[in-house]
Amino acid sequence: MSYERKKILVLGAGYAGLSTVAKLQKVIGVQEADITLINKNEYHYESTWLHETAAGSMNWEEGVYPIAKVVDNMKVRFIPAEVTKIDRDAKVVETTQGEFEFDTLVVSLGFESESFGIKGMDEFATSIVSPETAVHTREVIEKNFINYKSSKDPKDLSILVGGAGFTGVEFLGELVETLPELCKVHGIDYSMVKITCVEAMPSMLPMFSDELTQHAVDFLESRGVEFMLGNPIVAANENGFVVKINDEEQQLEASSVIWTAGVRGSRLMEESFEGVKRGRIVVKDDLTIDGYPNIFAIGDVAAVMNGTGENARPYPTTAQIAMQLGEHTAKNIKLSLNGEKMEPFVYDDKGTVCSLGNGDGIGVVMGKEIKGKSAAFMKKVIDTRAVVKIGGLVLGATKGKFL
Ligand code: NAD
Repeated sequence: MSYERKKILVLGAGYAGLSTVAKLQKVIGVQEADITLINKNEYHYESTWLHETAAGSMNWEEGVYPIAKVVDNMKVRFIPAEVTKIDRDAKVVETTQGEFEFDTLVVSLGFESESFGIKGMDEFATSIVSPETAVHTREVIEKNFINYKSSKDPKDLSILVGGAGFTGVEFLGELVETLPELCKVHGIDYSMVKITCVEAMPSMLPMFSDELTQHAVDFLESRGVEFMLGNPIVAANENGFVVKINDEEQQLEASSVIWTAGVRGSRLMEESFEGVKRGRIVVKDDLTIDGYPNIFAIGDVAAVMNGTGENARPYPTTAQIAMQLGEHTAKNIKLSLNGEKMEPFVYDDKGTVCSLGNGDGIGVVMGKEIKGKSAAFMKKVIDTRAVVKIGGLVLGATKGKFL
């Protein structure tokens, strides 16, 4: 009997891609398939911890680990390379390290910053979407604080945060912890620091109850954060943000300007597939792309629909769902190799926590609302669990949040 090993190619080693590989190497035998993982960096980074690096409470190295620690090199070939083109019909992926053929493809290329075409945003604002951008954000804030010592320009102590979504609020939570320390180091009076968060919508964090959101607002306001709600940012420039207030445009001044108001899936998605919106493609319930039963799209490049018909909405792109999508994809690949029917994905929502620095937070876990220290504790459990789920207990012991 002639026997050919199927080629499985996984693109991206974020939460979704690395979960797929971690599970594939458990359920698929060496003789069954040839598994290749391609990722731009040699390391995986915890994208949900980036706000800590951006605020200066965590070194970027603490939030990353080598992909080699997860990959079983007897079963999986890891290629550090950047994907440049996906030819879905020729079943070939082009990368900076050559071409790779596939029988089964898993596209899990993650997210990028999205400025929605707002003038000046890419040029004048920093973002928090990778270890590099997080480190840059921290450096910009510190450089401006140092500048203040000679300039005495209040603009150098002013920080503008665009968007009060999860990233914005978690970043603010860390900032109010780290900035007093930074001020002490540089002999600056913390009361001179101005932190303003500008949000387009009249309310924030709509997934939480009013009581929980109010807890977050009170926590941040009591530590000096000023919120401007219902004021969309319409431009960024060398002086800060331009915002719309009652139909009038107003310049807000700051030297440190951080955009936390938009993410999208990888730009390679639009170049490779049809019907892609903001880098995300709607997937079928087995997580494959319509018309391509051999191509899975998961994580931030996928719109996984909750419900059917007109009322269907995509689930938010979180680490929790990305890891479940990865595991389910591996399961479906195994079923498909066995000639069995693939199964629909069912999301098991265990809850969400939004941290407010190291010791506070808000969240809903197993249907129960939590806030304060218990939410902060749960956030650490969630962060550590993500490492353990993908990398096992040993990695969890070194990279988890309970050291
Ligand atoms: P988001 O899209 O969830 O939030 C962006 C915020 O910016 C929104 O409140 C939006 O109204 C606002 N905004 C958009 N345009 C604006 C403008 N022009 N001016 C002012 N405000 C504007 O983005 P995010 O916070 O980066 O989160 C992205 C995804 O990652 C979400 O699905 C989120 O749930 C997830 N996430 C989860 C966690 C967690 O579970 N702890 C942490 C970070 C991110």
